[in-house]
Amino acid sequence: MNKLFMIAFTTLLLSACGAEEGLTQAEEDTQVSEEQANEESTSDESTEEESTTADDDSESEDDASNEDDSTEQGDVSGEDDSSGNDDTTEEDDAADNDSSNEDDATGEDDAAEEDDATGEDEGDVSGDDDATAEDDAAEEEQVVDAQICTTGSQLGDIPANYVAALEKYTTTNSEYTVYVCTQDTNNDGEADYMVVESTNQPEHESYYFEDDNHHHEDFDFDTNKYKYDAVYDSQRTGAAGNNMIEAQTVIMKMPITPSAAATKTNTPYGTIGLAINGVSFFNENAAPGDDITEELFTFDQCSGHPQGSGLYHYHVDPVCLIRDLGGEVTTATHTEGGKTYSWIEDTGTNAGLLVGFLVDGFPVYGPVGNSETDCNAEAVSSDTIDGYNGHSHCTAEFSEAIYHYHVKTAEVGATGESVFWVTNTQYYGEPGVLSR
Ligand SMILES: [Zn+2]
Ligand SMILES: [Zn+2]
Repeated sequence: MNKLFMIAFTTLLLSACGAEEGLTQAEEDTQVSEEQANEESTSDESTEEESTTADDDSESEDDASNEDDSTEQGDVSGEDDSSGNDDTTEEDDAADNDSSNEDDATGEDDAAEEDDATGEDEGDVSGDDDATAEDDAAEEEQVVDAQICTTGSQLGDIPANYVAALEKYTTTNSEYTVYVCTQDTNNDGEADYMVVESTNQPEHESYYFEDDNHHHEDFDFDTNKYKYDAVYDSQRTGAAGNNMIEAQTVIMKMPITPSAAATKTNTPYGTIGLAINGVSFFNENAAPGDDITEELFTFDQCSGHPQGSGLYHYHVDPVCLIRDLGGEVTTATHTEGGKTYSWIEDTGTNAGLLVGFLVDGFPVYGPVGNSETDCNAEAVSSDTIDGYNGHSHCTAEFSEAIYHYHVKTAEVGATGESVFWVTNTQYYGEPGVLSR
């Protein structure tokens, strides 16, 4: 029963991924335009098996080619600093969001990446840091500059009920840039969007960080066979091509007054929201021709992976982030052939933990698990969860009831092993604008 459910679910989930990967490079190019990544993207993208393919076999050739492109990142860093130009591209990006950018896991492993590691003392907290931003730019190669939140985080115009929650974006990732500000798009003196701007780099360990990044940690991908045993069916385990985490410029503009959409909008293949550490959430939508089940087996120790342009993302419950936010996790183990594999699992008791927002401006909390309580410690029935994986009640960050999503719980087999991140194929609210 559980298993069935799980499988159905995963099917959904997986299909989503595929889509992404399959994506057209059109958009990719657009968005990445600044980096010239595109050139390579073309080639890579075609292959795409996102993650699945590691380096072995057939695909290997493609991979091979990708590597040549390795230069890419370098480029990124260079020019983007100028800041000015990026802005221009932004709208275009906005447009393509819907299409897909995703998981082209193939290509680019470039190095550069780590620089960012240091750069960012800035973002985190408040506005005053802005000053430092430039300094950093100078000292490091500051891969990405702010496009909207150019003076760092400014919560002055954020609606009062959102301040406590959005402030967490500015205090969670102490290493990489995550800014929160507002934007008045029509110059009428009123903010139209709550903006979160991020370089999309997790502060936790990952196989997908380059070796010289202090967050790089090896990972035996065979672990995923046991972690996702309910859906393991001889899928290939291994890294997502040659993709490695790269700094991005991801800008999430949420409506200043989030509201339920009269007509629901489908979530796109690509970033649909940002975790509280600034990392992208992807949905579980299926893309034609792709098998998302393959993707699970390319996830790193923190249940995430990068797509073709190095954009790291979570399709499932972000277990390391939950751990780092103070949530409860456990270590599960499985011994096979004399070897013991271990991984982190959500205990299912983190329903009150804010893990991020979707672009429609509604917050995302941890999986409901077996129980949930509201801000008054009163029990909330899981029966109230709607078809968008959400419901309304007050939370630690919102003293008045607010609609919020929950990471959907799905067991792996009958073991209660895994909790997946699941959003529906549609947003509950009116989505704002996402660009990268
Ligand atoms: Zn993916
Ligand atoms: Zn809830």
